[in-house]
Order: sequence, then structure tokens, then C-alpha cells
Amino acid sequence: MSKPVQQLPWPVVLKKEECKGVMIYAECFGGVVNEVSLQLLTPAKKIAGKLGVETTIVMFGDKISELAQEPFSYGADRVILVDDPKLVTYYPNVFGDVLVQLVKREKPELVLVAGTLRGREMAPYVANVLGTGITADCTGFDVDEATRDVLQIRPPFGATMLAHIKTPKHRPQMATVRPNVFQLPARDETRKGEVIVETGISVRPPSIELVSSQEVKKDEVAIEKAHVLVSGGKGIGSRDGFKLVEELAYALGGVVAGSRKAVDAGWVTHERQVGQTGKTVKPLLYIAVGISGSAQHTFGIREAKVVAAINIDPDAPVFESADYCILGDYRKIMPAIIDEIRRSKLVRPADEFKDPPGKNLPS
Ligand code: FAD
Repeated sequence: MSKPVQQLPWPVVLKKEECKGVMIYAECFGGVVNEVSLQLLTPAKKIAGKLGVETTIVMFGDKISELAQEPFSYGADRVILVDDPKLVTYYPNVFGDVLVQLVKREKPELVLVAGTLRGREMAPYVANVLGTGITADCTGFDVDEATRDVLQIRPPFGATMLAHIKTPKHRPQMATVRPNVFQLPARDETRKGEVIVETGISVRPPSIELVSSQEVKKDEVAIEKAHVLVSGGKGIGSRDGFKLVEELAYALGGVVAGSRKAVDAGWVTHERQVGQTGKTVKPLLYIAVGISGSAQHTFGIREAKVVAAINIDPDAPVFESADYCILGDYRKIMPAIIDEIRRSKLVRPADEFKDPPGKNLPS
């Protein structure tokens, strides 16, 4: 006999029936609105359409008034701006408290936050203060129109199915979405809307002191922007074997990526991991070498135009996601492909490349 579900003692901060509308927190750092935040307008507009409500973008920072029009071009109905010199530096609880105040006042039924490093830090804090639930890394949404509950869809850990998660009693419903899961809506610069410049929000001093900050030297190539990706997996077998992955990427003018197992083995950096806990990529060509094709990996390549897979196992699941299936040992297949590319002069001379082999591998 199954046990009754235990009810958590969450306080009800906002009543379900008083909440309406969809709110997106848009990150504004370095003088731009983060594109990932604007991508959230794609699901937000769909949900708002089904619920018959507006989509509001909230933006915080210092001297950000010039950015206020940007979200309208992508379909926002309203923009709420909190422009305050105290918001010049990001502190999760300071920014989070601003969002909490706006949510308590605006009473949206759904709040979406980009699943960036900052978003993943701030959104759970906000959900906790508001005593509501949050679903991280949603890949889709639907609406139960009878109850107005938003179905927050995401792959559960380690499984091939999709979980449909609801927050039936508490409001707002909250979700984060990782970069590139949704495309940016079509841009229309003629669209305008109402900008509300907020003055009644208190920005509390941070509880920690920022002594100094230093930019972390990151892997310079953003795999999410590459047109060609050659991605290696556990089947490559060694760091030395990964040199062939680099060589093919180099020959194609592309970029190296990898599966989580390749990252765990230290053959590629985490910035280059493709998949559910890595990055979602959208290249014109994705070549998966020695990658089995787990659901967590193929989740990251749904937007790839053409997928080719090289695998020694005819039953490897990756072949189900591939347009071109190459069966065999990568150690024989890849040199032949690289030679053919070079022979047919499909590539520019080596010295024209800015990212030569050897540069991509972790030291
Ligand atoms: P394997 O599954 O071990 O596959 C190796 C493949 O190489 C096999 O198909 C084999 O046939 C082939 N092979 C072997 N030798 C050769 C050869 N000589 N030539 C050609 N082919 C060969 N994984 C990710 O990649 N990205 C993620 O973001 C991610 N997130 C995860 C999140 C969660 C919550 C969990 C639970 C798992 C996640 N994983 C992720 C891990 C994922 O489940 C798989 O374990 C992982 O993707 C497998 O990596 P792989 O394909 O490189 O290795």
C-alpha cells in the first residue's frame, strides 16, 4: 500500500486566485539584456496566450534605462525597470529581494528566470522566500486551462521520459530554462510598449562585502555559437585519441566539444560539454565520435541541423538521432575523413586557422 504524500509546511505568501500574468526576470549586465532572458519570451508568450494574460519583463541594474525598449522588439507587453546605483554589482540576495518585492506587488502566476549561473543562484532564493516551488531546467511548458496550472516539463535525472511538474497550490509558479532551449522570438523593432520606471522598491545593502573581483579566464570558444562541432565521448578512450577529434574539427574549421564522460575524464573542459548539464548547441553540423547517445547528451543537440555519428556499436542509440551513421572504429574512420577533406582541398591552408590543434585540450 502506498504511503500518503507528506504535505510540506510551506506558508502561502500569495493566494492562487489573486495571481495573474507571466513575469520574466531579464538579466542586464555589461550594458546589454541577456539574450537568454529574451529567449524566455518564446514560451512565455505561448503560455500567456493560453491564459489570456500579459507578459511582463522586469529588469534591474544601474543605468539600464536605455535597454528598456529591447524586450518589446521580442514580444513583451510591459517592462518594469528598477534602475538604482546600488544595483551596480550583482549580489544574489540583493537582486533576489528586488524580485521578491516586485512579485509580491505584481502577483504574477508564473515567473521565468534564465538558467544562467546567476539565474540558477537567484531563482531558488526567491522561490524559498515566497514559499513556492521551482522547476529547474525546463525544456517545455503546457497549461492546464481548467486549473491555470502551468505544466513544467523537463527530463528527470537519468531517464528517457519527460516529467510534467505542477505547482498546484502555491503561487507564483517558478521555472528556470537553460540557454538555447528556446529560440529567440522574431525581432520586430516597430513594437512598443509600456515602460514602468519603478521608484518604490527598496534595495538593501549587501550582507557580504565584495573585496575585489577578477575575470576568470574562460575557454574562449563558445560551443553554443559554433557552426561545426566535432564532439568526442568515452569511446575515444584516451586524451591522446582526442587529438583526432581536434584534427577533424580543425580540418572543418569547427570547434571541439564532448560528452560528460569525456569531460569527467579530463579530455575536454566543462565549457565544452554538450547536453542536459552542459550546453544546448545549434550547429549546422554536429559530429558525435565515440558517444553512445544518452538522452542527456542528445537533449543538447536537438537544434543541430545535421548530425553525423561515428560509433563501433551498430546498436548505439546515437544512430537514432543521426542523419549520417558511420559504423566502425573512429581510429580508422577519422584519419580517412581528414585525409579526404585535405585532399579535396575543402579546407583553407593550416596557417590561416586561428585555433590550431593542441589549443583546445585542457592543459
Ligand atoms: P558511453 O556511454 O560510455 O559511450 C561510449 C561510446 O563509444 C559507446 O557507444 C561505444 O560503442 C563507443 N565506442 C567505443 N569505442 C569506440 C571506437 N573505437 N570507435 C567508435 N566508437 C567507439 N552526458 C552528457 O554527455 N551530457 C550531459 O549534459 C549529461 N548530463 C547528465 C545529467 C544527469 C542528471 C545524468 C544522470 C547523466 C548525464 N549525462 C550527461 C551522462 C549520460 O547519461 C551518459 O552517461 C553520457 O552521455 C555517456 O557518455 P559517452 O557517450 O561519452 O560514453
